[in-house]
Amino acid sequence: MGPDLRKRWPAYQFPPLGSSSAKSPPGRAEPSGILLLSLPVFSGRFLLLLPATPQPHCRPPRTPEKNRGGVNLSILPVDMEVLRSILSCFSSRSRSRAQSHALWSSGASDKNKSMVEQLQRYGIIRSSKVAEVMEAVDRGLFVPPGGSPYFDSPMPIGYNATISAPHMHAACLELLEKNLQPGMRALDVGSGTGYLTACFALMVGSEGRAVGVEHIPELVATSIENIKRSAAAPQLNDGSLSIHIADGREGWPELAPYDAIHVGAAAPQIPEALIEQLKPGGRMVIPVGTMFQELKVVDKKLDGTVSIRDETSVRYVPLTSKEAQLHAN
Ligand code: SAH
Repeated sequence: MGPDLRKRWPAYQFPPLGSSSAKSPPGRAEPSGILLLSLPVFSGRFLLLLPATPQPHCRPPRTPEKNRGGVNLSILPVDMEVLRSILSCFSSRSRSRAQSHALWSSGASDKNKSMVEQLQRYGIIRSSKVAEVMEAVDRGLFVPPGGSPYFDSPMPIGYNATISAPHMHAACLELLEKNLQPGMRALDVGSGTGYLTACFALMVGSEGRAVGVEHIPELVATSIENIKRSAAAPQLNDGSLSIHIADGREGWPELAPYDAIHVGAAAPQIPEALIEQLKPGGRMVIPVGTMFQELKVVDKKLDGTVSIRDETSVRYVPLTSKEAQLHAN
């Protein structure tokens, strides 16, 4: 069983201690938009007051209740490390990519470790294998320069897409853990930066297969560069990890069936091709919906029948055509 995120916090961020928008969808903490209103310290943590602009995985919501005027504030508990990483953003905006990578590589593994420990403290990561893999794959190598890789928020990666928040990656790894055992096959649809595909590769090992499918060629090229710098690089070389330019709604039939399928973008309905490519005994985790989305857990039983349950409410960018994505505003 994966973590029940809905019980922990409705806003799908670090659990709000108190919030005027606790029921609102998750907010993306855009570094330049952060309003640092107060910094009371308690047990080594700061409280960040953030404008609760709900645009987590790209899209601002358009429901009337979000436009009722006034400023929505979310209060988030933030570790000193995380705070430092947000503030460093202000000064790192004009850094070159190389400088930025040099910055992250100094002490980056400590920051990545702190992020994983934080996710463990909040009960998002419960499996030691998931913790080990997220520690090994440094998120700092996958977030573009100027972003805050260790802050629990989605970050823009260009092309109207985002890298999902660490807690979403962790939650999906937890939900799929039993289907990511050594030797198994995993498909990551909408692989974006390649972060989760790299984690899948470490979970299934060189005997297994981790396959990413992404329809923006530039993102595929960047993701391969990211993976080459990461702990999953050897698997790119031995062929157990591959990323392909394709429409993920069709899956990747060449290597089907899969023990685990993760979809990183919200589909209006579950694509039939993905259900077909799921192995009996396999599991798919997929956000479904348009304005309101649910993270669905799809289990294919050994007799081929399929059960679907809702895990929690989420906000992802749409699983759509390349043209629709690039021209979306
Ligand atoms: N999981 C990734 C990216 C999430 S954003 C990460 O965390 O880094 C969703 C991704 O899905 C984007 O990169 C977007 O380009 C991709 N996407 C959307 N529709 C797609 C489609 N039809 N086929 C393949 N990729 C798609």
